[in-house]
Amino acid sequence: MLGPGRLTGVFYSTFAKTNFLLHEAISVFDIFKIGIGPSSSHTLGPWQAARRFAGMLKDKGILPNVTKVRVLLYGSLAKTGKGHGTDIAIQLGLCGEDPVTFPVEQVGSRINDIASMQKIILLGLHEVEFDPREDIESLITESLPYHPNALTFLAETIDRASIAETYYSVGGGFVVKEGEDLSDKEEVDLPFPVNTADNLLHWCRKTGMSIHEVVLENESSWRNEIETKQGLLNIWEVMKSCIYRGCYTAGMLPGGLQVKRRAFELNKRLLAGKSVSSYNEWMEAISSGGNGFKYTLDWVSCFALAVNEENASFGRVVTAPTNGAAGVVPAVLQYFVTFCDGNDDEKIIQFLLTAAEVGSIFKKGATLSAAMGGCQAEIGVSSAMAAAGLTEAIGGNQRQALMAAEIAMEHHLGLTCDPIGGLVQVPCIERNTMGAIKAITASQLALQSTPDYAKVSLDAVVKTMWDTAVDMHLKYKETSDGGLATNVPLSLPEC
Ligand code: SF4
Repeated sequence: MLGPGRLTGVFYSTFAKTNFLLHEAISVFDIFKIGIGPSSSHTLGPWQAARRFAGMLKDKGILPNVTKVRVLLYGSLAKTGKGHGTDIAIQLGLCGEDPVTFPVEQVGSRINDIASMQKIILLGLHEVEFDPREDIESLITESLPYHPNALTFLAETIDRASIAETYYSVGGGFVVKEGEDLSDKEEVDLPFPVNTADNLLHWCRKTGMSIHEVVLENESSWRNEIETKQGLLNIWEVMKSCIYRGCYTAGMLPGGLQVKRRAFELNKRLLAGKSVSSYNEWMEAISSGGNGFKYTLDWVSCFALAVNEENASFGRVVTAPTNGAAGVVPAVLQYFVTFCDGNDDEKIIQFLLTAAEVGSIFKKGATLSAAMGGCQAEIGVSSAMAAAGLTEAIGGNQRQALMAAEIAMEHHLGLTCDPIGGLVQVPCIERNTMGAIKAITASQLALQSTPDYAKVSLDAVVKTMWDTAVDMHLKYKETSDGGLATNVPLSLPEC
């Protein structure tokens, strides 16, 4: 089979979006992954790629003989990698650290140590000379054809042999190695294979099950039901902690843009002097304020701001489906828990299962990568996921849930990715508040509608999103070469 590096971008696009004979099996835990901010494609993906490369050196017995490691960044990773922490992620990945468990408060000190000693310990086992300023090179005028987020790892050994591997970070933290057999992913046999919304509805009709039940059955191909449910509640724990931490952390965001954290002040204002010492007390305090429109709206914004400020500060977040859009699903789920009587483990699990399936349909039929499709692929998809999850958790039927997802994406079509200074801050953080509010509105609209009369199906909007992605000018695809990134007079200090 052809390796992805040998496919042209256009050919691959056609191949990937029309070959539905292959039922790609994507688990809910591929969509919701615990990691560190600020970007799933520019931080989490390169981190995993670096770990895989170092792991390959160890597995092949090469590691003890390595004298030098270099990394080349291409395309979008080269253009916005610095602001997205790609260099930091690569170093931690080469060290063998796990983004799920690495203590976020140690990121800065570990990176400073590598820079000052000019040495890195590969997988914590083998030390080599490494100067991050020289050994991670951004080739901003070069792109590889398979995907704009490409990086090549090069290792030299004591006997002057050279080993190279190229990886592609294809969005949402997913990584593909050049030459990897794409059919490897097809091996999991799902009871209800789904590539499109139509497939999903087919299984729902045939079995009488709701969306989350179909997804739960499919998840049983990987693990038992108890493990899936515990895993999802753990995902919710990480999301909750992130919201709470973001609401109680003041100060400026890193990166030089001088962006002030806003969730802290907003939380304080909305609590109006009520003091709390735990997440549960905080929830009670919020609930005691009622559910007036402006009050609820402010809290949804506050939840979303909190997550994405944590994300921008290299905090622990869950990709949903990406890091840049990590605030939408938690904000809407927190809204459901706090303002819709949703504080019930089963309902929370249902919300996440349904949301993940919608994310997976967009990954299969379009993209989760801003470097391929602009921000519609991040905030648009997260809003569609949240809308569907909320609708089913509230009691809407399967078609209403998919209608909600369709409405949410329909009004994000064409949204470009133009982060100022290459940082996941402006417009990204506020954009999560918009994605969350649109998800809630889309859900309400769907719950008040009869899907029989809908003019646009979810599959039609997935295809439209992909067509728009293909037509979108390159400068709006996570390059910071267009849009707000070039029209706002903010500049970063040279570093
Ligand atoms: S503009 Fe959107 S897609 Fe681009 S980095 Fe920000 S959140 Fe991600």
